[in-house]
Amino acid sequence: MHVSIVTLFPELFEPFLSATVLGRAVQSGLIRVDCVPLRDYGEGRHRVVDDRPFGGGPGMVLLAEPVVQAVEAARAAHGPGVRTILLSPQGRRFDQPLARELAAAPDGFVLLCGRYEGIDERAIQVLAPEEVSLGDYVLSGGEAAAITVLDATARLVPGVLGDERSPEEDSFSLPDGLLDHPHYTRPASWRGHDVPPELLTGNHAAIAAWRRAQALERTRARRPDLLPKDEEA
Ligand code: SAM
Repeated sequence: MHVSIVTLFPELFEPFLSATVLGRAVQSGLIRVDCVPLRDYGEGRHRVVDDRPFGGGPGMVLLAEPVVQAVEAARAAHGPGVRTILLSPQGRRFDQPLARELAAAPDGFVLLCGRYEGIDERAIQVLAPEEVSLGDYVLSGGEAAAITVLDATARLVPGVLGDERSPEEDSFSLPDGLLDHPHYTRPASWRGHDVPPELLTGNHAAIAAWRRAQALERTRARRPDLLPKDEEA
């Protein structure tokens, strides 16, 4: 998976790209992440990337030209099918199906992080990105959203989680998209709470049946909208 991130603050990504699952995936070459500093495309000696909004009002707006140049430079490092994604509270809600799509995108994707009041609308018209939102709230910038998209997609790339762990067992996974069952570890009895006896039997079929029943029960209680048609009501 190849991801490029256009951002005014590339330093925010360093800790995420050097530690844990993401860090190992980058080091092993399973994913490639290029940070493209928007400042490098700024105007003049001071590399200006923003200005006051026409029409007045608070805050600053990112200039169209540096944004378009930076995204075009980012895209040039990908194949022709590269997807361009603007992180925006006004976009399509990010979810597991979109994470699956992006993780499998053959030419990778570019994440464009907005800041301040946003980006000059003409840059968005020219780039025609897909717009993706984390949810109905406003972040200070697209970087936190980009890290979320990066994390959720990278762990779906085969090999990233290692042999011992499969993303197919998590919530929202195929084939039926249920919530995950509960998990327990040592000790078997803790503060008067016992681990469900089914998990201590060593009987794989019984454990699988218990987990499936729990996943269904949780999904019915917490997210009935996710239930497969034949499990509704
Ligand atoms: N004025 C914009 C609006 O109200 O739609 C919000 C701008 S926000 C302060 C700055 C940047 O943060 C946005 O350009 C976007 O890149 C990012 N951002 C904010 N909320 C987001 C969300 N819910 N999902 C994804 N990105 C978000």
